[in-house]
Amino acid sequence: MARPTRVAASATIPVLMPLWLDQPYDYLAPEGVELAPGDFVLAPIGPMQRIGVVWDGAPGDPPPKKLKSVIEKLDAAPLPEVSRRFAEWVARYTLTPLGMALKMMMSASEAFDAEAQRWGYRLAGSVPPRMTPGRARVLEAAANGLVWPKSALAEAAGVSYSVIDGLADAGALVRVELPRARMRAPLPDFAQVELGPSQARAAHSLREAVAAGAYSVSLLDGVTGSGKTEVYFEAVAEAIARGRQSLILLPEIALTGQFLARFEARFGCRPAEWHSAVSPAERGRIWRAVASGEAKAVAGARSALFLPFADLGLIVVDEEHDASYKQEDKASYQGRDMAVARGWLGKCAVVLASATPSIDSIVNVRRGRYNHIRLEERFAGAAMPNIEAIDMRIDKPERGRWLSPRLVDAVNETLARGEQALLFLNRRGYAPLTLCRKCGHRLDCPQCTAHLVEHRFRDRLACHHCGFMLPTPKTCPKCGAEDHLAPCGPGVERVAEEVAERWPEMRTAILSSDLTPTMKALREVIETVASGEARIVIGTQLVAKGHHFPRLATVGVVDGDLSLATADPRAAERTFQLLNQVTGRAGRSGTVGRGYIQTYLPEHPVMQAIVSGDREQFYEREIAARAEAGMPPFGRLAAVLVSAKTREEAQAYARAFALAAPRASRIEVLGPAEAPIAVIRGRHRFRLLAKAALEADLQAYMREWLACAPQAKGSVMAQVDIDPYSFL
Ligand code: ADP
Ligand code: ZN
Repeated sequence: MARPTRVAASATIPVLMPLWLDQPYDYLAPEGVELAPGDFVLAPIGPMQRIGVVWDGAPGDPPPKKLKSVIEKLDAAPLPEVSRRFAEWVARYTLTPLGMALKMMMSASEAFDAEAQRWGYRLAGSVPPRMTPGRARVLEAAANGLVWPKSALAEAAGVSYSVIDGLADAGALVRVELPRARMRAPLPDFAQVELGPSQARAAHSLREAVAAGAYSVSLLDGVTGSGKTEVYFEAVAEAIARGRQSLILLPEIALTGQFLARFEARFGCRPAEWHSAVSPAERGRIWRAVASGEAKAVAGARSALFLPFADLGLIVVDEEHDASYKQEDKASYQGRDMAVARGWLGKCAVVLASATPSIDSIVNVRRGRYNHIRLEERFAGAAMPNIEAIDMRIDKPERGRWLSPRLVDAVNETLARGEQALLFLNRRGYAPLTLCRKCGHRLDCPQCTAHLVEHRFRDRLACHHCGFMLPTPKTCPKCGAEDHLAPCGPGVERVAEEVAERWPEMRTAILSSDLTPTMKALREVIETVASGEARIVIGTQLVAKGHHFPRLATVGVVDGDLSLATADPRAAERTFQLLNQVTGRAGRSGTVGRGYIQTYLPEHPVMQAIVSGDREQFYEREIAARAEAGMPPFGRLAAVLVSAKTREEAQAYARAFALAAPRASRIEVLGPAEAPIAVIRGRHRFRLLAKAALEADLQAYMREWLACAPQAKGSVMAQVDIDPYSFL
């Protein structure tokens, strides 16, 4: 028979599965079903059935009889072409299998389920045979004759769903289909703000960038409190007015209830939120609304970049310098850089906003790739904070205390003026090290090269690398001595203890992720800070990100040197950004803010730059140093992390891996060297680094290297990280 052959030949299609696969595989289309690239389909793979995507390109030509058939086409908006190209781009750039890049775009399994029909209830007019007080309340609540969603009716009458079901069964309520809940549309002119002159100029160029409907990158570089959010909201307004979608990426979006409220005040409704704390059902709903183009604005974490936008007109990356944009687990990618790539593929405007732009972005401005839009002053003439370095070698705290007399005085003055003070320490827990004063034993993690951190509030010692926990022991596990275990050094809990001793009558708030485990709790604490109720705030980097605390006048950095002492080539940049951002929280409305940085290195260029406020000098120095060393953005890096259950295995494989490195004129391979954290979760770690000149094709080189490296056997694993940020 001719017919099946003909159909099979013309209906072979490539399907990509969201699995560890480098390419799509060919399938037969089910008879009579038209399939086009981007369509979601259910298809067999091995013994399973999975949802995959019809990919572009011609199918290969294996004998048709070997092909399996697609089971069905799903009723979902297709994955847009630009998303498919983006998946390919991400896969190529990060050396991730294409299927895994697709998987990141499908991280909303409920998007592919049929949407649940929602039901409402209306009074039928008849009286049920049996009456109860609960039933009576329902009938009374529904007496207005309107259609009630089940949950609303149950709540209004104070009854459980079963009471409503009972009334429906008895014929006293009629069940009616409810229409699908639609996303509310943000209104571009809901509440316009009056912009200052430099804000207006900045907003104008951003609006033009959006209106151009072409790829562009603008670095919105403005001091803390200059109104960057208000300014990029104008770009969002422009996109909305043109019917196009906007994506705003924020670090720690989950915490920024304040941001959502500001968006609502400006546009009349909240944006769709996308982050790990969004429920699966909501993720499904948002995914569909983004794909259909109904969701006009999404505020999200870096993973929102992989949503299937139907018509994306603007991407904003707020706090673009923030290290949390770099994802390291699973696929490793730098969200900010991927946002730029997505903008380029989708021909849309990209805005990178920061008070302390990354060196990479500043250099891109100098190379003429990005527009530079500056806001040099705080809004409404608010002054920049005065910053002072406290030399801890001279201004020493008392024994067992962590705040120097100078900082204590500053907090006292602040409180006396009725203002709020923040003490910042980027370290969770009570003490970073516990040791036995009798035998000198240090309490270390059994699975990592790391000290256990005491968390006194939870009465635990914890490893911050693997999550290992132990109830805080009373006796030394080595020598058995009782009451000789001593905490060494401070964490936020210990600073909070000192604050409680020094200012017992003051209301305080601690912002640390482990003390406020739920998002709701965290948002509540942030609210007490924003309202000024909490007079002294003690916090980790959670406080540094994007919040607006109007009463905050004084910021004290308990340990300004903490982030300098790492093996990271970006340590100076990171410290500069963090200190700037934290001290920039001070004095944002009216009062003159003050920042105090406790340091043992007051002459360090980072401290000098922060104190003098001469950021240009810092950027010059740092850029010159990077150029000199050929470090990013003047060269490119790729890291290989080799790990295994034993040190010997890891080392032997790392050496063999290094020997397999292809020769290339502008690429140099460094290592293997034992990682600074030599063991994590019981796995021994070695690092290799490929350092390439800008013109070299680092990805091609790494692919070649991986192809000729020996097979990893046993417990050995090798992971590649393009553009690494972590060197631990
Ligand atoms: P940044 O993001 O640059 O630190 P924000 O956008 O958070 O600054 O603005 C700081 C504060 O100033 C916010 O409370 C904001 O509402 C206010 N603000 C900024 N610009 C204006 C404006 N044009 N009109 C009214 N308030 C503004
Ligand atoms: Zn550990």
